[in-house]
Formats: sequence, C-alpha cells, structure tokens
Amino acid sequence: MEDPDRPLEEPSELIELNRYRQQLLSRIGPLEPIALGLLEAHGCVLSQDVKSDADIPPFPNSAVDGFAVRSSDTFAGVELDLVGEIAAGQEPGPPLGAGEAVRIMTGAPVPAGADVIVPVEVAEDAGSRVLLRQPGRRGDHVREAGEDVRAGDIVLRAGRRLVAADIGMLAAVGATNVLVHPRPRVVVLSTGDELLEPGAPTRPGAIRDANSYSLTALARESGATAFRLPIVPDDRRQLQEAFEGALTQADLLVTTGGVSAGRYDYVKQVLAQLGDVHFNRVGMQPGMPQAFGFLGTVPCFGLPGNPVSAYVSFEVFVRPALRRMQGRTDLNRPRVTAVLEDEIVSPADKVSFLRVKLRREDGTWHAALTGNQGSGLLRSVVEADGLAEVPTGRTNLFPGERVVVHLLVDTV
Ligand code: AMP
Ligand code: MG
Repeated sequence: MEDPDRPLEEPSELIELNRYRQQLLSRIGPLEPIALGLLEAHGCVLSQDVKSDADIPPFPNSAVDGFAVRSSDTFAGVELDLVGEIAAGQEPGPPLGAGEAVRIMTGAPVPAGADVIVPVEVAEDAGSRVLLRQPGRRGDHVREAGEDVRAGDIVLRAGRRLVAADIGMLAAVGATNVLVHPRPRVVVLSTGDELLEPGAPTRPGAIRDANSYSLTALARESGATAFRLPIVPDDRRQLQEAFEGALTQADLLVTTGGVSAGRYDYVKQVLAQLGDVHFNRVGMQPGMPQAFGFLGTVPCFGLPGNPVSAYVSFEVFVRPALRRMQGRTDLNRPRVTAVLEDEIVSPADKVSFLRVKLRREDGTWHAALTGNQGSGLLRSVVEADGLAEVPTGRTNLFPGERVVVHLLVDTV
C-alpha cells in the first residue's frame, strides 16, 4: 500500500522567477465592479467615468467677506448706499442699482448687477453707507459659476485610484456611490504543529505564529480586507476543513508553511486534492518552494513557512496579484537604484532578495544589509526599507556596485 505520508513528487527543475510570476499574474484579473459609498470607495479603482451633473460653483459667489458693488462705481474714496446684506446660503436678492452696495459674506451669491467685491479690509462700513478706500476691477473676488467644473465635464476617469481629493470631488458633483473594483477579501492561515498563538503558554518545541500576522497586515496594506484564521496543525483533515471553510469567504487565500519537502508538509497535498494548485521550485531566495493555483475560482498562494520567505513571497507574488484584483495596473511598488555598501553572495541560479536599509547621501541612495540574511530572521525585515534584487547569473556583488531596491516602505 502507498504510504499516505509520502511527500508529493518534487519538481526537480527550478522555474525562472519572472516566468513563474508572469504566468501566475496572467491568471488573475480585476474583481467585478460594485457600487460603493464614497468613503468606502476611497483607495479603490474606479470602473466608470464620472461626470458632473452641474456647474461648480453652481452660481457666481463672493470669494471674500466684503461689499458687492458695480465696477463702474468703484473708485477710491467713493461712498455708496448700503442697501442690504447677503450671507452664505441665502438667495442673492434684488439686482443692485447704481450707487448701491450690499454687504456680502464669503460663499454668498453675488446679486445681479454687481460685478466686483470690495473686501472689508479696504472699506469703512458706516451702517447705511460704505466708503471704499480702494478701487476695484470688474471680476475681483467674484468666483464665477462653473469656473471649477462645468456641467457635463468628466471629473474622474475609469482606472483612477481614488485619493482623498477625488472623494471630495465626487461629493461635489453629487455622486452618492460609484462603481469601483472592490477590496479583495483575503483569508490568511498559518499551518504547523509547532505554532502557538502569541498569547498562548509556551511549550518545548513550539514557536509563535508570526506569519499569519505579518501576512494579514501586508494584505491590508495592499488594499485588501484581510483577516486571519486560527492556526491549523499539520493534519490533512483539519487542513482540508480549514481551506474549505476559508473559501466561502475569500477572494484570495494565503497559507504559510507546509510547502517544503518535509514528511508532514501536507499543505501541498491537500491543496492539490482540493483544486488546481501546483508546486514549484522557483528560482528565488528566499522563497524557493511555492504553491499557487485555484480552489474553484479563488486564487490560492501556499507560501513557505520561514518568516522572511513568507514576507518576501508576499511582496513578489501576492501584492501584485492583489493590486491586479483591485483593477490596478501599477502592480509593483516603487524601486530605486542604490549603491551597495556591503558584499553580497548570491546563488547563480536564483534571484536573491536581500533586506537593506536605505540612506540618501548627495542625491544618491545607499543600501546596507540589515544584518544576517537568514530566511528565519524576521529582524532583517523589521529593519529594512527595501529588498535589493540580485539577478540570476550574479554570484558576487561588491561595495560600490549598483543594485535595484524594491521599496518596502512609503517613505525613506
Ligand atoms: P515549513 O514551511 O512548514 O517547512 O516551515 C519552515 C520554517 O518556518 C520552520 O522553521 C517553521 O517552524 C517556520 N514557520 C512556519 N510557519 C511559521 C509561522 N506561521 N510563523 C513563524 N514561523 C513559522
Ligand atoms: Mg511546517
């Protein structure tokens, strides 16, 4: 009888990183658009053009607190009859006659006949009369109807990722909800008999589950609505139940652990049984063992368990996948070229990602390794601003050479 614990056949070939990544990303597309309220849509990518239903501003109004007058009446030293007052939110009242002025507040509609506002600072308000100390020119301090946006203008185009200013613009043009690609729902789960919840009592042989926390946080940073499930032990039945449960609530599934060649690495077996998930040895370091595929329609990433491998794998594969699901076309984080400060040794057949701290000096980025680069050393990530990429074929890099660094932080 076949040994049920026998690991799956290992693929012996290394698959080239970029080819693997491209193949995987080509199988992922944007989520179906849904209508969301304005604040919910913040950060999402629009899937429709948005037009204004009206002029903004909708009527000519005052840009200052002052006096609405006719430009033909404004010369220094003139005294005009003060015939009324208009506050913001009021109607403009009757047309203004020659020799008349109206006290007007910022945002209040300019009455017909008036074509200039003289600011309070250059006028003397004497109750029934007002003295203008400075002349004004036609149009001064008047905000014209439609000077910001004209009725029918497209103010935001499909494909735009909504930033705060856009949310304000949507409100200004009267949108109450908009069609956007929704935030992917991501379920993260860690697997391993040795794993403990952070608050649990320790026991010999056990370590705390760091990965489900870092990966859930990464998924949230990537624009997803992510949550983690409880730790799943190295047990086929429990893994299967956990994956099946996760699928009902996920647009994307991320697991960590159990994808290497160990005797109890069941994740690959269970995923392969449940769906169209495949295992590869990818030409990268850290993060060589990778699982990817679909459980039904849900993309599923089986990331390795070493904390740095899991983190780097997320950056290389999962973040771009999540961006694509959100309708984004900028799949990668920004990168810079930096001058290396340390020597690096890298395997010839793999792309290496080294954790580096960045420093800017005389207009040039400098990258220093964040200490020991072992794939289990989470501190190398905590201290890093970026991942320095060493291409295949390069085995030794020396101080002074240039490397590409993928930023892990928004500002350095
Ligand atoms: P695996 O991929 O399951 O072979 O695990 C590789 C290494 O990563 C082992 O030393 C595990 O103990 C460790 N590891 C696996 N999962 C986690 C996790 N969620 N948090 C921290 N370390 C982990
Ligand atoms: Mg394990």
